[in-house]
Amino acid sequence: MQGYILQMQKTRTEDMIVKILTQRDIKTLYRFYGARHSIINIGRKIDFEEQTQLGFLPKLKHIVHLGYRWESQHDRYYIWQHFIKLLYKHLADVYEIDSFYFELLDSGADKLMLQNPKRVVLEMYAALLNHEGRAFIDMNNQMQCFVCQQRLADSVALGRAFLLAHKECIGGRAFILEKMSSFLQTQSTILLEDDEVDHLWEILGLGL
Ligand SMILES: [Zn+2]
Repeated sequence: MQGYILQMQKTRTEDMIVKILTQRDIKTLYRFYGARHSIINIGRKIDFEEQTQLGFLPKLKHIVHLGYRWESQHDRYYIWQHFIKLLYKHLADVYEIDSFYFELLDSGADKLMLQNPKRVVLEMYAALLNHEGRAFIDMNNQMQCFVCQQRLADSVALGRAFLLAHKECIGGRAFILEKMSSFLQTQSTILLEDDEVDHLWEILGLGL
């Protein structure tokens, strides 16, 4: 079985409880001497087996690291891990999921070596918002401010989860509404400047 390590937690000994996102669910598995196992790290893709134990967490066995070349590049790996940590919080308390999340990580991981890592992650997030029905898109750009419910004009500010608002209502930096709605609609950052990408990256850090 394949999965992405979302989180791990050391127990009183050197054992670990590891959360793994697979195609179907988020598994909580127990790994003896996990702390000595360098493969076990947030964001890594692994092949593994699960062994059930009566009355206890299933064991994580036969781990094989399905590595990506970018893991050796600190900045790329850092950005990836940052997104994985946010995703873990977002999916906390979820057990069964659809394959969208696993496939999202697979396609993002494939792009990460060659493309700007912040852009890759922002595009993944736009896809996630669309999948969850949380991307506030209106084809005619008749969008409302989430604070005052009044119509938005050309310039908008962004709240957590890229909710759109008037700059006067939440402060922060102004973005061009058309650019933002195009980003959310197409799930592409191609129209965004690098400094806009940096700002969106900071807003992403507030939580998915
Ligand atoms: Zn407003």
